[in-house]
Amino acid sequence: MPNKKIAIIGAGPCGIMSAILLSKNPNFDITLFEQNDKIGKKILISGNGKCNITNKYISIDNYQGSNQNLIKNVLNKLSFQELKSHLETLGLYIHSKENGQSYPLSDSSASVVNVFMNALNKPNIKTILETKITNIKKNKTYELKDDNNKKYTFDNVILANGSNAYPVLGGNSSGYEIAKSFGHTIKNTMPSLVGIEANIEYLKLLSGFKQKSEIKLFVNNKLSKTMTADVLFTNYGLSGFGVFDITQYMDLKHKNHFEINLFPEIKKEEFKSMISNIIVINKDASFELTLSGVLHKKLIKMIIKKFNINSESKNKDIKEYLIDKIIDLLYRFRVDIDNTHGFKHSEVSNGGINSNEISNTLESLKSKGLYFGGEVLDVVGQRGGYNIHFAFASAFIISASIL
Ligand SMILES: Cc1cc2nc3c(=O)[nH]c(=O)nc-3n(C[C@H](O)[C@H](O)[C@H](O)COP(=O)(O)OP(=O)(O)OC[C@H]3O[C@@H](n4cnc5c(N)ncnc54)[C@H](O)[C@@H]3O)c2cc1C
Repeated sequence: MPNKKIAIIGAGPCGIMSAILLSKNPNFDITLFEQNDKIGKKILISGNGKCNITNKYISIDNYQGSNQNLIKNVLNKLSFQELKSHLETLGLYIHSKENGQSYPLSDSSASVVNVFMNALNKPNIKTILETKITNIKKNKTYELKDDNNKKYTFDNVILANGSNAYPVLGGNSSGYEIAKSFGHTIKNTMPSLVGIEANIEYLKLLSGFKQKSEIKLFVNNKLSKTMTADVLFTNYGLSGFGVFDITQYMDLKHKNHFEINLFPEIKKEEFKSMISNIIVINKDASFELTLSGVLHKKLIKMIIKKFNINSESKNKDIKEYLIDKIIDLLYRFRVDIDNTHGFKHSEVSNGGINSNEISNTLESLKSKGLYFGGEVLDVVGQRGGYNIHFAFASAFIISASIL
């Protein structure tokens, strides 16, 4: 039987895992194309250099996309335990935190890439670095062209190009362009797991302040999502895990705003009586210094400016209505969102290749033998290891279909 030639575009978790799995068939000739000078650049940076590789509590609820059945099908192909065992066969051991986030035992993403480099070292896998595939056509076979106009022919093609998030590591839209040339449509792409840009009053004073907060996202003034996690004020707007997570639910076609409760663990009335108490106890003390007992100095600076409070003011000068205003501000801090902080800074992209136009095995319904996997699809996972897991699960389903 003549060898089957398979091209994989992109050496991220989806492309690498596809090559490893397909190489089990010695009759397959596999070529893995990567435009960067090394494989797995996003793996290296992921999880702050530790690589949050999967999550013990994977479920469909951790994902958004236009075809929920497809997501379910892909996830059913690879459970946490199956991935863990498979990684062990490659020599990579992982450990999980209480919240399910799982990392290599070394807590270093370099371990993951090194193990993958070993696993790709097979006689029937050829990895071609620093080569970008720019065009694919189908006649009898698939004809690929790279950025040096070199041509190649293959029987099957797996598009694992990823999204346009984080261009410095290779994020680009070439996967979408190739899919479009085969008649596929692209669901609106949008930066996700990213900070937001907003013109916040006294932002310069607040920049660098971080606090666990409850964030309510309103789209067109309608409550869309509530989350409690860190919010970090930056020089462009807001960042922090809570903000990252909630960006997945924003709809940039409409007006988005946040209402942030900076003290979700303390009831508003309790907080008010705390401030009122310390004021009464220390009547002649400075109001600004007294607030230090309950608030971060950056919040105090903002409050003093916003409410035009004289820095010499004593506690006995402070009226109750001012306390109410301060408390209202801290419990309903409104942020009108101008934009996300862009693909340049986003971990992933919402949207992508329309997953209603592909089969349950991730094969194009427009061109037989062409497959799409990982982030190039219009599927996005939450922060916590879900995106890399989805990329691996895509590889499992695609390779099972080709094998
Ligand atoms: C800063 C950061 C931190 C992250 N942390 C985590 C985390 O801890 N856990 C998690 O689950 N997810 C994390 N993610 C998201 C995760 O990295 C991606 O979702 C995942 O890597 C997607 O895998 P993929 O194989 O689909 O695509 P990618 O990993 O994006 O790989 C695609 C590859 O294709 C190459 N390529 C693109 N076009 C071409 C072309 N035309 N020709 C040749 N090569 C091409 C690219 O250079 C790239 O190497 C993080 C992302 C970022 C940016």
